[in-house]
Amino acid sequence: MRPFSSAAARDVAATGDRQALHHVYSSDMHTVTLQPSGQQFQVEEGESILTAALRQQIVLPYGCRNGACGSCKGKLVSGAVDYGVHQKKALTDEEKAQGKALFCQARPLGDIVIEARTIGATKDIQVKTLPCRVQKLERLADDVMALHLKLPANERLQFLAGQYLEFLLKDGSRRSFSMANAPHDDELIQLHVRRVAGGQFTDHVFGKMKERDILRFEGPLGTFFLREDSEKPIVFVASGTGFAPIKSIIEAARYKGVTRPMTLYWGGRRPKDLYMNALAESWSGAAMRYVPVVSEALPEDGWSGRTGFVHRAVMEDFPDLSGHQVYACGVPVMVDSAKKDFTALCKLPEEEFFADSFTTQADLAQAASSPR
Ligand SMILES: Cc1cc2nc3c(=O)[nH]c(=O)nc-3n(C[C@H](O)[C@H](O)[C@H](O)COP(=O)(O)OP(=O)(O)OC[C@H]3O[C@@H](n4cnc5c(N)ncnc54)[C@H](O)[C@@H]3O)c2cc1C
Repeated sequence: MRPFSSAAARDVAATGDRQALHHVYSSDMHTVTLQPSGQQFQVEEGESILTAALRQQIVLPYGCRNGACGSCKGKLVSGAVDYGVHQKKALTDEEKAQGKALFCQARPLGDIVIEARTIGATKDIQVKTLPCRVQKLERLADDVMALHLKLPANERLQFLAGQYLEFLLKDGSRRSFSMANAPHDDELIQLHVRRVAGGQFTDHVFGKMKERDILRFEGPLGTFFLREDSEKPIVFVASGTGFAPIKSIIEAARYKGVTRPMTLYWGGRRPKDLYMNALAESWSGAAMRYVPVVSEALPEDGWSGRTGFVHRAVMEDFPDLSGHQVYACGVPVMVDSAKKDFTALCKLPEEEFFADSFTTQADLAQAASSPR
């Protein structure tokens, strides 16, 4: 094994001089040891820790895979890494000083030891690249379109409720969208696409896209899914189309007869943003409570329900989240605030917070321009 924790290497790592670091660690293959499991895997030159792990069927928690959401953050126990391109808010300098790294971006500069939980639930699910046909375009709100996709006759997409797919665009870029249908209801894949002003893909969805168009995607991806090995009550928090994967999770849980108490908070600016409100209301029952929350209702909306930011409504109702699991999905500002406030102010253990943050190309561009 290489002398990955040598003082010299650490000194060079501290300077951030990547060329010098590559001289210190000249081998093009590095070993990553996972704690506490002791499992090991190899990382090739230039590969991120996450990419290498996934290639070897070792699934670590992750979200955007672009250094913008922070879902893959974990602890570097020993050794040095190049931290890669990431947003400052996804990994602060303070967190780096505490030995944290974003595994989707970090590249080992020698053999390293990291602390991370592996995820077994997705390991038997094959990630595929498939063509699909737009079967139906269904307007759910002014700025939300449901895309119903049909796969080739001999194909089915096996996935865990909550996971997403990535469309492969002609220019080589990718766009992520979460499955809104539950896995058992897999005749068509359903996505809820929110229009982003000036967005290349979503402008196309609301403009030129038509039924029978062919798209290509890779999936399923992600580690946002229901942890079924827990008995804890669940709080779901969605903003806008963050409802899509949560719908999938709730429909799958109801289908399987999961009896854990669940509360869903769904936030939008106006009541019309809660584009499947009637469906969410229809889930209310003994084990399920639904709380719609609106932040910018106008008088003509006649809104008499909860108001304000959706994660604040959760905090009012659950000042103590120490015995809960939280699943949050939607715009990055909501997911970031929920994680910060629930853990700091409501005693939610950090490892009981699961999220997908709906980052866009603007977030990634910001990551690329952030200093390392
Ligand atoms: C795991 C995951 C799951 C997701 N699931 C969903 C979902 O189910 N539903 C949903 O609606 N969304 C979802 N999203 C978000 C969705 O992927 C983004 O909204 C997507 O990027 C939109 O693509 P677009 O091409 O329309 O816009 P983008 O090209 O991403 O552009 C978004 C905005 O950024 C600006 N922009 C583009 N490039 C740059 C640049 N270089 N510099 C500065 N600004 C720039 C654009 O002008 C535009 O205003 C998910 C995201 C992730 C990571």
